[in-house]
Amino acid sequence: MKKNMDVEWSYSGERGPEHWAELCDWFAKGAEFPLQSPIHLVSSSPSSDPKETLSFHYQKQRFTDKEFKNTIHLVPFDQLSYVEFKNQRYYLTDIHFHLPSEHLINGRQEDIEFHFVHMNAQKENLVVGAMYQLAENEGWLYDRDNGDSWNLEQHEHWTNPEIFFPKKRSHFHYVGSLTTPPTSGPIQWFVMDQVGKLNKEFLLPFKGQYAQPNNRPLQPLNGRKIDYFEGISQ
Ligand SMILES: [Zn+2]
Repeated sequence: MKKNMDVEWSYSGERGPEHWAELCDWFAKGAEFPLQSPIHLVSSSPSSDPKETLSFHYQKQRFTDKEFKNTIHLVPFDQLSYVEFKNQRYYLTDIHFHLPSEHLINGRQEDIEFHFVHMNAQKENLVVGAMYQLAENEGWLYDRDNGDSWNLEQHEHWTNPEIFFPKKRSHFHYVGSLTTPPTSGPIQWFVMDQVGKLNKEFLLPFKGQYAQPNNRPLQPLNGRKIDYFEGISQ
């Protein structure tokens, strides 16, 4: 199978989402996975024991920022922060964001959706999503009192990625796919339903090409089961 990392794709036009699967064999193969993401998430009564979901083990660490796959990414230098799910560790490998949100929650699309991409030893992915509304004069994400530093010129940032999460970590869990080519699966998805505030200034350094919409349209549910958890096991 031809696996060409250089195949160009975009969010509109001839290389937009409706055409991704036609762009190369690798994308075509990924699109065959029937449980695609993103999807519309609808609140239901909490279905399960929080002990059955993931737990977070994040710590302050060093990140750089990079631009690829039509999106800004924050990439950790080291494998330190991880989540645990079904007795397996998935290490944080990448943080990026989509404008506007890809998942919808109870019919609402938010301004931004952050994705925290994790990987286990078998190279299986687990992604956590967190939603934000853009705000003025509030919604600073950097915990400066805690010694966080954010240096966009040097492309070096020290932070505990936990600051990106809402205080109450109620969330959905379902099985889906990557939302960018090759859109392969299965991916364990955990999407928080508490919407945070993000100061508009956060986006200033990323203006221009990367302030363009980069959200994949909603995909069919295809009979999927969606779990809802009110909290996170600690
Ligand atoms: Zn994403």
